[in-house]
Amino acid sequence: MRLRDYDTSTRYTATVVSTQRITPELTDEVRELELDVHRDFGFKVGQSIGILVPGDVDFGPKEHFRLYTVADLPEVNHNGDVRLKICVKRVHYIDDYSGERFEGRASNFLCDLKEGDDITVSGPYGLPFALPKEKDANLILIGMGTGIAPFRALVKQLYKERPDFKGAVRLFHGARSGLEMIYQNDELDDFAQYYDKETFRAFKALSPRPHWEDPIAWDNALEERGAEVWSLMNDARTYVYIAGQERMGEALDKVFRKIVGDDELWERRKAEMVAGRRWAELLY
Ligand SMILES: Cc1cc2nc3c(=O)[nH]c(=O)nc-3n(C[C@H](O)[C@H](O)[C@H](O)COP(=O)(O)OP(=O)(O)OC[C@H]3O[C@@H](n4cnc5c(N)ncnc54)[C@H](O)[C@@H]3O)c2cc1C
Repeated sequence: MRLRDYDTSTRYTATVVSTQRITPELTDEVRELELDVHRDFGFKVGQSIGILVPGDVDFGPKEHFRLYTVADLPEVNHNGDVRLKICVKRVHYIDDYSGERFEGRASNFLCDLKEGDDITVSGPYGLPFALPKEKDANLILIGMGTGIAPFRALVKQLYKERPDFKGAVRLFHGARSGLEMIYQNDELDDFAQYYDKETFRAFKALSPRPHWEDPIAWDNALEERGAEVWSLMNDARTYVYIAGQERMGEALDKVFRKIVGDDELWERRKAEMVAGRRWAELLY
């Protein structure tokens, strides 16, 4: 769905409660923003919210609309406000024609906000990664960069609300370097609380040469566990959820083809999972 097709007519004001950088200096900046949305707007874990950013006063669109996945369980405050966390990577891009560097509109706006600032939000939107109903379902979660956000919320929800859950959870988390691994680095490892759970395993996929912008080695991380991953994919109770930047879709497809070793078989299995709503992607 294109951004312009989203319904943004119902809007809410949200106040920034806190903003903190969650990646070390000298790496790409990712900030976690805590927002109080001043209305219980029916948000569910796994959904995204819309942010409406003011445009240029003189020319161009009057506002810009962008989506952000919520990175934690929501909390409803005593006054009915909904407290949400989002993590935002400050992005810039180089124009293909002019070679000029531009700052990403919304991400820079959000990363520059201060405590107490008010912003306009809309939504919630989408629910690509719902928790399976079966208590013995398996989850293969593959998140890159800020794509880890929905899985952080999902894993928390799973172990909080479903104590009887028995399935395997395999989290593959990709980043250029260990330092850029948000929510799972030396200073802050949000997933550590699940490491002693028999059902939970987390694996890191890093770039072999982060300073050269080499692609993330999904093949190493996934291929090393290829036999287990493929055996889980052959189990009708397994759900595969993928989130992150668009380019990871193609990279993962290559890895899965290699693991399976038979293109036709891989395409058939993936089509079955998609049709059974057991394969969902959120790529941006
Ligand atoms: C459903 C959905 C959920 C999303 N969730 C998140 C989220 O949780 N956190 C988040 O930071 N972004 C998320 N995004 C991306 C976000 O909506 C914006 O596209 C992003 O912040 C860039 O917007 P901008 O206005 O700053 O940049 P623009 O002015 O729109 O420029 C975009 C440029 O930045 C690149 N880009 C976009 N996102 C990233 C990124 N995360 N890392 C590196 N390069 C990028 C694009 O390829 C493009 O070249 C999500 C997108 C979708 C569709």
